[in-house]
Amino acid sequence: MREIVIISGKGGTGKTSLCAAFAALARNAVLCDLDVDVPDLHIVLNPRDGESHLFMGGNKAVVREADCVGCGQCSSLCRFDAVTMRDGKACISELDCEGCGVCVALCPARALDFPEARCGDWYIGDTRFGPFLHAVLVPGQENSGKLVTLLKREARELAKKTGRETILCDGSPGIGCPVISSLSGATLAVAVVEPSLSGRHDFDRVARVCSHFRVPIGVIVNKASINPEETERIRAYCEREGHTLLGTVPFTTDITAATIEGKAVTETSSGISATLAAIWDKIDALADSKARERLQLRGFGTDL
Ligand code: SF4
Ligand code: SF4
Repeated sequence: MREIVIISGKGGTGKTSLCAAFAALARNAVLCDLDVDVPDLHIVLNPRDGESHLFMGGNKAVVREADCVGCGQCSSLCRFDAVTMRDGKACISELDCEGCGVCVALCPARALDFPEARCGDWYIGDTRFGPFLHAVLVPGQENSGKLVTLLKREARELAKKTGRETILCDGSPGIGCPVISSLSGATLAVAVVEPSLSGRHDFDRVARVCSHFRVPIGVIVNKASINPEETERIRAYCEREGHTLLGTVPFTTDITAATIEGKAVTETSSGISATLAAIWDKIDALADSKARERLQLRGFGTDL
């Protein structure tokens, strides 16, 4: 089984649009949006007949008013100013509580419960390109890495159950916890890079993260025509660092036009569809060869 994760290092490079374009070209794939803080792949994939599940993560302190003796200990102990005293009783702000548990452990009247909190929801649905998993975190909630791990685990289960050999994921921008979770177990990371100074800088950071976790990288320079000099610098960087340059995509408004219609650009007659199809073939072949290398390293032969 191959796991291909589309990453970007920064927002706004066109990662999700290209992921949607590849989702239309991939055959026999489970699709997955791992950008759980700001998911938007579902806008183009338009999943239907889905299941939804709660995502529980972390805990919140809750006062049982009847048991609270109003000593104020929790209020003075809380480092996050989540507790106020009202009418002689403790009152905890759900938004401010960070779930550290100090007040729960030290309340002399044992008047605090510490239930698991809902941090978000995750979904499985069908799309015209195949089964699709996505999730959304409640604003301000943490545990995005845990949610990404859960989605990947479910995607693998679904791929096994339905006999699909590829999991194609839209990762998060940046290099934080959800990106690291996205890369865990990935066969290939495909970095969508924008030809700008900040694009190159942020790509460099995410490329180092991939190298650290020994995840091979293929690179696409998106909107390459807006800055040919930067495109050349990225090409030189890839050569120097041993990353495969999968291709360059010229700037076009066709992608936005397709998104407005709820389509992937590869579903339209846009001139860049052929470019993207050629890039997808390279991704497919590179993911195959990396999956084989991995099996060989583990002593399992080369059958995928
Ligand atoms: S520490 Fe316990 S008893 Fe004291 S105010 Fe807080 S909840 Fe109430
Ligand atoms: S669990 Fe921690 S953060 Fe939440 S109210 Fe208690 S002390 Fe404050």
